Amino acid sequence: MNLIVLGPPGAGKGTVGKLIADHFGIPIISTGDLLRKEAADRTSIGIKAKGYMDQGEYVPDEIVMQIIRDRLKKEDCRKGFILDGYPRTIEQVKALENAKIRIDTVVNFNASREVIIDRLSTRLTCSTCGAIYNIKNVPPKKAGICDKCGAQLYQREDQKPEVVKERLKVYGQQTSQLVDHYRKKGILRDVDANPSQPQKIFESAMKVLRH
Ligand code: AMP
Repeated sequence: MNLIVLGPPGAGKGTVGKLIADHFGIPIISTGDLLRKEAADRTSIGIKAKGYMDQGEYVPDEIVMQIIRDRLKKEDCRKGFILDGYPRTIEQVKALENAKIRIDTVVNFNASREVIIDRLSTRLTCSTCGAIYNIKNVPPKKAGICDKCGAQLYQREDQKPEVVKERLKVYGQQTSQLVDHYRKKGILRDVDANPSQPQKIFESAMKVLRH
């Protein structure tokens, strides 16, 4: 099963996407996570990408496509995969289609602007394993410390309110075309991502995936 999770930053597609991935035993592949790893490892791709990412701008298509192509070749993608954060532009959709990568369903997470800004500005990420927490809804057991690996939690640079607003603007400009494209193809399924509990959104997603 090859899926795409679509939705603005903060709609919960990463968190809920992970629950879907675990349910089906397939990996969730986040281009944001892959790029952050490259940046942390200071690879040549990572150094190029970081400048764009810290401003909330998109990293050039060739860089992202290269990363995705390499990742999808790995053994764990044979049963299927979930793409999170890719494609984001109609050019990236075309690149995926040209590469003959089949997509079965696109799950579109919808949440209001207020919910997103509030959710992102209260989000904390683990500096080591990438686990995501929310101070209000999904707090860590010990403040500032990851439940899973004990490392320090931090607020991502691009989750500060000014950058969130820029990311939402960029998302709105670029991604509405994608929604239209996949809706026309008949493979888009909408999910209400406003509830604060990821489990609730997961249940809605499973409902649309069963149909
Ligand atoms: P995310 O964690 O998905 O919000 O991604 C964080 C940042 O990584 C974005 O703001 C972009 O700078 C970059 N990025 C992730 N995915 C893509 C993509 N498909 N195309 C271009 N840039 C991307």
